[in-house]
Amino acid sequence: KVRTRIAPSPTGFLHLGTARTALYSWAYARHHGGDFVLRIEDTDVARSTQDSVDQILQSMHWLGLDYDEGPIYQMQRLARYQEVIDGMLAAGTAYRCYTTPEELDAMREQQKARGEKTGYDGRWRPEPGKVLPPVPEGVKPVIRFKNPREGTVSWDDLVKGEIVIANKEFDDLIIQRADGVPTYNFAVVVDDWDMKITHVFRGDEHINNTPWQINIYIALGAALPQFGHLPVILGDDGLKLSKRRGAVAVSNYEEGGYLPEAMLNYLARLGWSHGDDELFSREQLVGWFDGTHLNKSPAQWDAAKLSWVNAQYIKQADDGRLATQVAAQLRSRGIEAVDDSSLAGMCALFKDRCATTVELADWLSMYFVPVAPSADDLASHVTEAVKPALIALRERLTTVAWDKAAIQQAIKDTITEHKLKMPQVAIPLRVLVCGRAQTPSIDAVLSLFNRHVVLDRLRTL
Ligand code: GLU
Repeated sequence: KVRTRIAPSPTGFLHLGTARTALYSWAYARHHGGDFVLRIEDTDVARSTQDSVDQILQSMHWLGLDYDEGPIYQMQRLARYQEVIDGMLAAGTAYRCYTTPEELDAMREQQKARGEKTGYDGRWRPEPGKVLPPVPEGVKPVIRFKNPREGTVSWDDLVKGEIVIANKEFDDLIIQRADGVPTYNFAVVVDDWDMKITHVFRGDEHINNTPWQINIYIALGAALPQFGHLPVILGDDGLKLSKRRGAVAVSNYEEGGYLPEAMLNYLARLGWSHGDDELFSREQLVGWFDGTHLNKSPAQWDAAKLSWVNAQYIKQADDGRLATQVAAQLRSRGIEAVDDSSLAGMCALFKDRCATTVELADWLSMYFVPVAPSADDLASHVTEAVKPALIALRERLTTVAWDKAAIQQAIKDTITEHKLKMPQVAIPLRVLVCGRAQTPSIDAVLSLFNRHVVLDRLRTL
């Protein structure tokens, strides 16, 4: 049975890169009717926080990445890691190393001075016939993995293809720190083994860790999963996407007015393709995502494309749902609006021109708070020549039935009477009531206002 996982370290928000990895792992499991596991890699005790776990879970939930098991916390599995370490010590595939940090520094300096590659020199590595140094008093050992020195490690990467690396490139990795906490490369193997993970997708910054991990699997007699290392996501500037250069937390996009299904669609397409399809549903993704067509080269984050994708989803979104989100956006600006049913009608009228629900809220706030037309707009559109017509229209609007058709008729009657053209009345009307010169059809826009608000805004004439 296919089993995949995502294993975030809870040291911050859910990063877009991790979200994409989670999405691929999830989609792959769902495609095969398998399981998707969430594991929290919290062995970096100083940097891991519950707040971060909560944020990660929240963003996963928002994206709809449901998991079948978890969250499983590594720090709750220390006894299990100890058991495996004990077994490796007994089997001779791991050993105690008493080298102090000072000695390690000195070792590194000497290696540098000699122009050698830096790394642990193996002084505590047991070998047949080798005499180890005497165990020093009061030094707590770390446990190192006895990495093979000969031969190569190789695997057929789901993304990158065949990879072969010589073992001599790798020193003996610390698998348990002096305080008893295991390190990433060891814990990840024990976990993926215990959790029967069959396919490991992760970012390619881990590609240099994989040979160690494979050797640990072999030392444990465990079956290897398949690995797929996903290329990085680059920012608009061609550098790795990072916090310093823009929004990289999934939650930034939630707050920014993106719909989760649009985000999912965009993230899926970022590094994977299905023919020319740009827009697809969650179900289609699951149907198509079989682990092929993953890009080998880095993906480029494209804010404009995400915006386009989101706009497509907003156009089709249910108005009531948009209204709920816009109401929340407005509330966060202190606009305690709004009766959802009229807001839904407003969303229907404006959603075609908005890329995010934040933009939608930008538009719709004019229905609830005063607008401030620019001096330029006032000067160029609300001219002396049209003011008499606008005043006459205001009179008509005090009595007409308050709906689109009646408002339209009132505007038509006014322009006929004053021998003006439609834009000569419609544009100043927009400027005064909406605070901007361009809007959807003005009769429709006005009909969604309360009559008294429109009359108030025309009272300055
Ligand atoms: N905790 C690691 C990370 O967030 C997990 C890497 C892996 O999937 O093995 O990068």
